[in-house]
Amino acid sequence: MQTRCVFCGIVQGLKPALRVYEDDRVLAFLDIHPSTPGHTLIIPKVHEARLEDLPEEDAAALFRALHRLVGRIRAAVDAPASTVGINNGPESGQEVPHVHIHVIPRSSQDRGGIVQGI
Ligand code: 5GP
Ligand code: ZN
Repeated sequence: MQTRCVFCGIVQGLKPALRVYEDDRVLAFLDIHPSTPGHTLIIPKVHEARLEDLPEEDAAALFRALHRLVGRIRAAVDAPASTVGINNGPESGQEVPHVHIHVIPRSSQDRGGIVQGI
């Protein structure tokens, strides 16, 4: 398997990460610069930069993992809410060119905005 980006390096175990979930197609780990405590990234193991280019099976597995994890991530840090988002392409702010879902625990004290507050 080629190491095409930093997240591929994490998938392959070449780069350390605080892993919180793994299945055949998906890996989840803590963001290295968390926006709030518990900020987690859920990624497909296959390298693809954009969501629309991801094979349907990997997209389905990604959303299945999100569904499994989102409540547990929130509960793990005792947060009342979470923001879920994907930066899809460099112009949207995507820095790592490997599809990833941000799961960011939220609270009324965090002073963050809404995901559509562009
Ligand atoms: P993007 O702007 O591409 O949607 O977000 C990329 C995210 O990946 C950022 O929140 C950044 O902190 C995180 N990140 C970048 N490099 C690494 C890394 O090597 N390890 C981990 N755990 N997170 C990373
Ligand atoms: Zn990659």
